[in-house]
Amino acid sequence: MNPTPRWLWLAALVVVFVGVSEALRLWWRLDLLERLLAGLLALSVWAFINGRWIFAYYHALRASWISRRLPPLAGLAADDRLLVLAPHPDDEVLAAAGQILQALEAGARVRVVWLTAGDAFDLASGRPAPRPEAMRALATKRMEEARAATAQLGLGEADRIFLGYPDQGLLRLFLTHYYLPFTSPHTRLAEVAYAGSLRPGARYTGRDLETDLEAVLRDFAPTRVLAPSPLDAHPDHQAAAYFAMRIMGKLGWEERLRYYIVHGGYEYPLPKGLHPRLPLYPAPRGRRLPWRKLELSDEQIERKLAAARAHASQLRLIGNFMLAFVRRTELASPLPIPARVVPEDLGLEEV
Ligand SMILES: [Zn+2]
Repeated sequence: MNPTPRWLWLAALVVVFVGVSEALRLWWRLDLLERLLAGLLALSVWAFINGRWIFAYYHALRASWISRRLPPLAGLAADDRLLVLAPHPDDEVLAAAGQILQALEAGARVRVVWLTAGDAFDLASGRPAPRPEAMRALATKRMEEARAATAQLGLGEADRIFLGYPDQGLLRLFLTHYYLPFTSPHTRLAEVAYAGSLRPGARYTGRDLETDLEAVLRDFAPTRVLAPSPLDAHPDHQAAAYFAMRIMGKLGWEERLRYYIVHGGYEYPLPKGLHPRLPLYPAPRGRRLPWRKLELSDEQIERKLAAARAHASQLRLIGNFMLAFVRRTELASPLPIPARVVPEDLGLEEV
């Protein structure tokens, strides 16, 4: 499909401006100058979010300034084992593609575990009001995309584990449905059903999810686990953090946890779109965390981009958000929340 010509966008913009401007005149009795100023303001917000014009320099300066002061994230060695915990297919790429690539290059083993198959993103089903069957088909598609994305990063089938719990249901599993099964309003499922999942038939309860995740952790015995921070704005990410902290704490492995944030608040990460020369800066929601940064090579950035593109159903809808994570650094924090303890107190001098 050919890209939309620029003049068509411009014409659409003029039509929208005339329409909105007419509405402002009728409703609020704004005069022409006020309407022009309102239009300019809207255009500036768009340019700020997308890093256009002067805002490109502002974002570049700000991100570089903040990133410069972050200490480096310690790399992994050949005898390390990295487990990436992703609530949804695509989180593994956005948060950790560079870390996965560098771990593999160092000879370490890497596994990714997806807690859900992303089966609640109605828009991605390709239908206006999708039926449960369409959402289940979406799950299968997103699992395929996750396979393709992690293949781009060098992972094989044995390195991928799909738990198959309900998208947009994890926090309920943790809080209210720990032993009573939850039924997903999107798929009408109350148990793990997708082929290729770790334990089909497992009920949608916090206890079953915890049992599966603990089994995965015990089996792989990771030396580093990358999980969402509980400060992430998405409830599934928060729940993933709670489950991870709880199980890792129980196993006495809490110092092996590192945290990431994807949904960081205030349109994070700004600017939207692909900016591979910019470093990633700490999310507003995780501003006070002790972030460490990992530098990606040009080749690793290319492979991260290819992996992000493999999540085609997501890229179509939230591409500008996803591509904004393809940058020359990734971030991880040794602490889940800002705390009075410093990382060193947990024996984390080598983070
Ligand atoms: Zn997610």
